[in-house]
Amino acid sequence: MSIRIRLTLWYVSLLAIILITFSVAFYSVLQYSLTSEVDRSLQERANQVLVGIQALNTPSSIQRFGVIRLPELDVFSSRSIYIQIADESGNVVKRSPNLMGRDLPIDRQVLSAIAAQQPIIENVTVGSVEMRLYTAPLVSSGGAVFGFVQVGNPVGEIQATLRRVLLFLVSGATISLVLATLGGVWLVYLSLRPIERITETANQIVSAEDLKQRLPVPPTDDELARLSRTINRMLERLDNFFQAQVRLSADVSHELRTPLTIIRGNVDILRRMGDSPTTREEALNAIESALNRMARLVSDLLLLSQADAGMMLKMKPVDLDGVILDVFQQAHALRNGVELKLGHADPARVYGDEDRLKQLLINLMENAIKHTPKGGSVTLSVYRSENSVRISVADTGAGISSEHLPHIFDRFYRVKGQRVRGSGLGLAIAKWIAEAHHGTLTAESEPGLGSTFTLTLPLLKEDENNQRQKADLENPL
Ligand code: ADP
Repeated sequence: MSIRIRLTLWYVSLLAIILITFSVAFYSVLQYSLTSEVDRSLQERANQVLVGIQALNTPSSIQRFGVIRLPELDVFSSRSIYIQIADESGNVVKRSPNLMGRDLPIDRQVLSAIAAQQPIIENVTVGSVEMRLYTAPLVSSGGAVFGFVQVGNPVGEIQATLRRVLLFLVSGATISLVLATLGGVWLVYLSLRPIERITETANQIVSAEDLKQRLPVPPTDDELARLSRTINRMLERLDNFFQAQVRLSADVSHELRTPLTIIRGNVDILRRMGDSPTTREEALNAIESALNRMARLVSDLLLLSQADAGMMLKMKPVDLDGVILDVFQQAHALRNGVELKLGHADPARVYGDEDRLKQLLINLMENAIKHTPKGGSVTLSVYRSENSVRISVADTGAGISSEHLPHIFDRFYRVKGQRVRGSGLGLAIAKWIAEAHHGTLTAESEPGLGSTFTLTLPLLKEDENNQRQKADLENPL
């Protein structure tokens, strides 16, 4: 069942319940108040008759004449009020003229109520007329019942009024429900139309496989505008992800092509001129370096894909002195005529993955050495401040122009036309490692004068250190 139908049904059912409850309550209250109004006037009229009888009969007059005198009832009756007086056995002794010879009914209930000296009120039918009939006992001063007075009022008018009200309520409720249903359908249609438009556009995007398209965002700052914006952000991320995938496959195949060509070419040379030891040596060297390049590329790619998949680092408290020393020693093997200096070296302790931190710094050192001509220098320094530690790798090399600087951390980004070639993944990996340690990696450069790469990491505080060590002991894995 569609949301549209469900919402309308809910809305109409709710309205129906409200209307029915209101109508029933209104009808009952009206019926009760009209009936009790009639009952009150009947009682009043009966009391007047009783007072009239008392006025005509004093105890001495009854004794003197031996009969009870009754008032003329037409004084008390009116067009719609019928009165009758009967003795204690139920024999009618007087009736108002408007009864025109007919009797008001005296049933067993009336007689037993009178015997118990209780008034009684009931619904009766006289001829074809429905009446409300009140019967009150006539009690002598001695306390004996000597008869009763009955006052009746036809209820036809009240019933007609109630019927009219009922008709009005039923037809009013029905018309309201029909109108509400139509209005509800229209309102629900209006409010769900934007969702339909969003669905249509989303469908177009799916069928056209065009992740560049965006949903229209309604100008209202409501739930639908927020939904459209969220879907647009999702599309943006999907698009970026998709583009990155396409770029990655293109870059990887491009990167693999060069070493494969070198290997194939050298295998060819070996086949044709493999007898010459120098040629063989050169060809094997070329093949080895191409293989090394491929191996490096594959391991870098593997690392990045693991990083994308949310690889966990092996975090523990790490003293940076040891890391710096190790990196410095490894870099020595690569220095190639570049002077390596250890600058400012504050002791510092961080919470991190030692191997990854070494890898990050080696990448920076390797880059610095690669891009610094012989005779230049690369300086590795550690500065500790209150909450963080800065590790900088500064070289006196070629530098990076401002046009390339914002992109050097992108995957496969390389500055074209350089003497030394790399895969363009080193800085992307370094940045990922820095961020996985809640740190930052930034680059500053003066083309022609050199570049400085700065890694900033949060310092491990002593109490944090203790807590972490405790947690590591409890959960060795
Ligand atoms: P690669 O493996 O190709 O060196 P990186 O991601 O490490 O890739 O670096 C990307 C680009 O940044 C390189 O192509 C290089 O031009 C530039 N770069 C990195 N470090 C330096 C540096 N210290 N001096 C000058 N250029 C640098």
